[in-house]
Amino acid sequence: MTTGTPARRNWLPVAIVAGALAVLFFFNPSEHGFFPPCLFHELTGWNCPGCGATRAAHALLHGRLAEAWRDNALLVAALPRLAGFAVFRRRGRAAWVFRPAGLWILSGVLVVFMVVRNLPTGVWLSPP
Ligand SMILES: [Zn+2]
Repeated sequence: MTTGTPARRNWLPVAIVAGALAVLFFFNPSEHGFFPPCLFHELTGWNCPGCGATRAAHALLHGRLAEAWRDNALLVAALPRLAGFAVFRRRGRAAWVFRPAGLWILSGVLVVFMVVRNLPTGVWLSPP
């Protein structure tokens, strides 16, 4: 059930993302323990595609691109696409990622990234 006017509903995700980015800007996930741990990593010891993403986002917000790349290269590589998604969403166009082919491509990229970063040869893609 959705409530509120359409304009108000459009600003809610923006407000949530802005709030999350503000928390990430002011609190380093490496130094503050209130960020939730990755359950996949806790259970398996393997890195999921999102492992290191909060630290990478914190580094990006402070302009440290190399550190962000080391923490989660996929997040950094996906930034132009994420920005494009935000722009197209604001213009009311459906993002390719919500089409079946896009979902398959995204799923494949995430699985390949996860497998490679957990292989001995892909350790450089694992967060420190
Ligand atoms: Zn993870």
